[in-house]
Amino acid sequence: MLKAVGFFYPGPPHVAYSSLAFHMIGNYISDVLKVPVYRYFLEENDIISFDRAPDPSKLNLIFVSIPFESLYPSVVEMLYRAGIQLFSKKRRQPIVIGGGPPLSANPLPLKEVLDVIVIGEAEPVLDDLVDLVDCNINKRICLEGLSDKEGLFLTEEPNLTKQVYVKDLNKVWHPVKLYLKGGIEPIWGRSYLLETSRGCGRGCRFCLEGFTFRPPRYRSFEVLRNLAIKGINVNRLTKISFYSLSFFDNPKAEDILAFAVNDLGLEISVPSMRVETLTPGRLRLIARGGQRSISIAPETGSCRIGRAFKKCIEKDLVINVIEEAIEAGIRSVKLYLIAAVPGENDKDLNETVRLVELASKKIRTLGGLLKVSVNPLIPKPYTPLQWLGFNRKFVEKRLRELVKALKKIGVDIRVYGAKQAQIQALLALGDERLSNIIVDWGVKGGGFNVINNLLRKRGLSIETYLDSKDPNYEPPWHKYIFNEFVDINLLRKEFKAFLKILSLDDTKWNS
Ligand code: SF4
Repeated sequence: MLKAVGFFYPGPPHVAYSSLAFHMIGNYISDVLKVPVYRYFLEENDIISFDRAPDPSKLNLIFVSIPFESLYPSVVEMLYRAGIQLFSKKRRQPIVIGGGPPLSANPLPLKEVLDVIVIGEAEPVLDDLVDLVDCNINKRICLEGLSDKEGLFLTEEPNLTKQVYVKDLNKVWHPVKLYLKGGIEPIWGRSYLLETSRGCGRGCRFCLEGFTFRPPRYRSFEVLRNLAIKGINVNRLTKISFYSLSFFDNPKAEDILAFAVNDLGLEISVPSMRVETLTPGRLRLIARGGQRSISIAPETGSCRIGRAFKKCIEKDLVINVIEEAIEAGIRSVKLYLIAAVPGENDKDLNETVRLVELASKKIRTLGGLLKVSVNPLIPKPYTPLQWLGFNRKFVEKRLRELVKALKKIGVDIRVYGAKQAQIQALLALGDERLSNIIVDWGVKGGGFNVINNLLRKRGLSIETYLDSKDPNYEPPWHKYIFNEFVDINLLRKEFKAFLKILSLDDTKWNS
């Protein structure tokens, strides 16, 4: 066996190159642990790689980075195309280890496929996992040594697994050199990826990252400044893309932004920001750094729905920020909205339409461009909405009504469809029985009807997973995942508060 790690990204390289986890994990293994890493990507139903990578089935250790639930079938497809046995129980080698935000909240949908699932952040467990590269004896014996480690969900003998996280972001390794091979342009352009913070403490009730990655942690200005200087020089780049969940929550975010733009003269890209944190000065800095478009996520125009989400942003504030953004030199604003919330009424929907109308009017007067992204509410595991369920008929109806009203305003709208959203909800809230379905689906491909048939063949249905549940019900992932900051009683309390604000009776709201 080759003493090397295979690193799978279940998507094309230009998408992987824009993923910080891709650089962070792969480069830590090669640059710090000095173990060779071969990266493999999935593009148009084919596995591609660079660096004269060997046949991945000849390696005895494979890591898979899985940022979204919708990539689960692609994970299976990659293993299948690599000629690797798909079921963990039947596989002698390689050992296949996966991780990412959706699996940290609920590892069960890939339980039968992966051997180890990282629960939480990778850094605290990465050294132990890479040590497996030397383990040439029986796979089961190799994994036995990990059975008492926190943060590792061993799929064959699962125990309650404690989520792990980096306590001090300033002390943890951050990549300087990025992996940008094959002459391929990353999806968001060539830039140095710099993580300013991790986690988010705002507690929006629908947000998986906000509940799964706690507490919020921030890198200091000194650490960020050193990384920015080195990263730009080593990679010969002229742009920094900042990574965080709510950028300006880091008290030093504005300082590092100003340093990058004013002192280093760089272009910058800042991720989605909380509306309340945007000031005219910050917007001018962003525009001066060459960013011409910003994304903000008021989610709704109805403060009743906003309070239920624990994210109530007044319309006036949104409109002011849009005005200030365009005056600062930003050309376009993207508004993220959440549609089809159980308990919402026509007044709530009209409030959202009103928000878009006001935003559109304001931006047109100022010569800017408004884009609107509408996403159905998708309940996620380990959040207060994990009991909410997903009713496609209801979602289709409410989406249709909202989109029809928004079209009258004449804005550029992108809608995440009800079918896609239902599949995402299914993958997010699935249990271990879903592994078999994901395997068939990953191998055979196919759309919505195929999934329905696969479920039916195994005596399951979408409703098994997506009917709303009573908050006394304990979802299966709670039997396996222990998050010291979020226990099920806190989630129940938050869910009941959500129901109360929407006047949904917490004992018979789902009947
Ligand atoms: S502010 Fe954003 S990242 Fe933070 S909890 Fe809310 S939605 Fe999630």
